[in-house]
Amino acid sequence: MSEYQLTAVGHIQSPYKQKFAIPRQPRLVPEAKAKLVFSSDFNREEFVRGLDEFSHIWLLFRFHETADKGYSAMVRPPRLGGNERKGVFATRATFRPNAIGMSAVKLEGIEYKNGQLSLLLSGIDLLDGTPILDIKPYLPYSDAMTDATAGFADTRPETDMSVEFSEEALAFIEKQTEQPELKAFISNVLKQDPRPAYKKQRDSEQSYGMTLYDFNIRWHVQDNHNTVTSIEKC
Ligand code: SAM
Repeated sequence: MSEYQLTAVGHIQSPYKQKFAIPRQPRLVPEAKAKLVFSSDFNREEFVRGLDEFSHIWLLFRFHETADKGYSAMVRPPRLGGNERKGVFATRATFRPNAIGMSAVKLEGIEYKNGQLSLLLSGIDLLDGTPILDIKPYLPYSDAMTDATAGFADTRPETDMSVEFSEEALAFIEKQTEQPELKAFISNVLKQDPRPAYKKQRDSEQSYGMTLYDFNIRWHVQDNHNTVTSIEKC
């Protein structure tokens, strides 16, 4: 067996502090802003010269949170309600050989501040602290395949979830002037319906919690309706 050692070129600083509620693919929640902070060996502007000419980039990364949990040949894609199994290579599951993920994300800018090189990103689906293995420009002429088909994952996963906020939650959001997109961010995360598939099948009212940035957010779901009940600083 061939073995290779990989080095992280940088790490992600993300508002997603836990796996739960991260969208299943990039660009589903455009308000998800992140920073890719380069490691010391790659902290030089030469490494990214010309990258600002591209609107989108590919990130290759390590599913570091789950990498030590191994993989199986078959997985249950959430798309299929968790009831049907597909080969791991027919899915984008996190539990996979080598634990390598790939996401095409929007490049909002390149920052070189106080001697630290960073990429400013949006629409990410990555956990805070995710190690980045490589970065490549997205090439529309080759990467965008307009005739592609995708079987059981053919369409963008839309839900008919609606979201409302309690008065208390709205009052909290209004005070967060440094996070002007917080309400849209929370709404779009909840519209993705982050609940595990087996919970969706039960229609009972239940309360959930997630952490975005340093905010603890609680909501409950009844039928297809989310109500954000409280938001607090962690
Ligand atoms: N776009 C990537 C791909 O196709 O390889 C990731 C798809 S994967 C289905 C997306 C999920 O990975 C997220 O919903 C989140 O739960 C999980 N995730 C994100 N960053 C992770 C990390 N660093 N370690 C483990 N799981 C992570």
